[in-house]
Amino acid sequence: MADLTGQMQAMVLHGPNNFSIDSVPIPKPGRLELLCRVDAAMICGTDPHIIKGEYPGFWPKEFPQVLGHEWAGTVVAVGEGADTFGFAPGDRVAGTSHNSCGNCMMCRRGRYNLCIHYGNEAFHKHYGHNYDGCYANYVVHGIRGVIRIPDDMPIEIAAAIDPVSIAMHTTKRANITPGDDVVVLGSGSMGLFALQCAKVLGAGRVIVVGSGERLDIAKSVGADEVIDYRKSNALEEVLKLTGGMGAPSIIECAGTPKSIQDAVEMCYRGGTISAIGIPIEHVPLNVKKIVLDEIDVRGARANQNEQEEIIPMMMDGRIETQKLITHTFPLSEFATGLDIFNNRTGGAVKVVIKP
Ligand SMILES: [Zn+2]
Ligand SMILES: [Zn+2]
Repeated sequence: MADLTGQMQAMVLHGPNNFSIDSVPIPKPGRLELLCRVDAAMICGTDPHIIKGEYPGFWPKEFPQVLGHEWAGTVVAVGEGADTFGFAPGDRVAGTSHNSCGNCMMCRRGRYNLCIHYGNEAFHKHYGHNYDGCYANYVVHGIRGVIRIPDDMPIEIAAAIDPVSIAMHTTKRANITPGDDVVVLGSGSMGLFALQCAKVLGAGRVIVVGSGERLDIAKSVGADEVIDYRKSNALEEVLKLTGGMGAPSIIECAGTPKSIQDAVEMCYRGGTISAIGIPIEHVPLNVKKIVLDEIDVRGARANQNEQEEIIPMMMDGRIETQKLITHTFPLSEFATGLDIFNNRTGGAVKVVIKP
């Protein structure tokens, strides 16, 4: 067994656009926490924004910070009390980023992603955002921030449990009626997972708005129609495809002002918009249409117990993950992986990091 009192390698963010792979002490699991070996991690679309310093004082709260929040691995040590919940070294687990207080009204209602103690480290940790994450050989997670995975689930697939569960949560909030048209805005991994979740939830036709080679992947994982917003007017094309009415469920995964505004304009009367993309700036919306068409505009944050639900669908291929994994790099080459992810080199979608 590895020496768990020594040093490990970790991707440490020292300031905006300033990170390095450093030797840092292996963290120790506290009460109801687990020390896990990270066997596979994935770069999330939020990471480049955090690295650029676009959420100052929030993500991260302070420097230095180890980033990364999509991972799967193996428990190597259990903190006080974690064994009472059945955790033991050797358990295969996947991480999710929120470890909430478990006691506040939001947590007790199951909406732990909205824990009222968010930001207070004593009660709530947001791994890879405001607390050390998984771009490292080892990571400490509270027991509410991990989920057990089947023995035969490939580790790279399991590393996607966090983003897929978020896509499922976002898609559920889009209020899909079986057979309905659904528009997914954005063809990054969130959009590509959300389109598959929409199919699982009974969508009739899924229209994906995005760009480039990612639209080919969208088609290969079930999109019925794809629109390249760089080549045509996405709003006009969606209206054309829907007889001028728009779609009753819109899933917004791009997070740009234009895309969010388009979501309102292409939403059918009485429809629902579920938004997971986080815009950096304030976005003015057509509230007159929202009011007069009774459009429900709903946010989606992280996930709410969806990890358990999606594992069987990821195992049997109803939610295809492998086709989204385009690159794999060791932790020592994180910078190259990030570059490829940012520039979408070679059609990059999901980049796996192996610590
Ligand atoms: Zn993520
Ligand atoms: Zn709470």
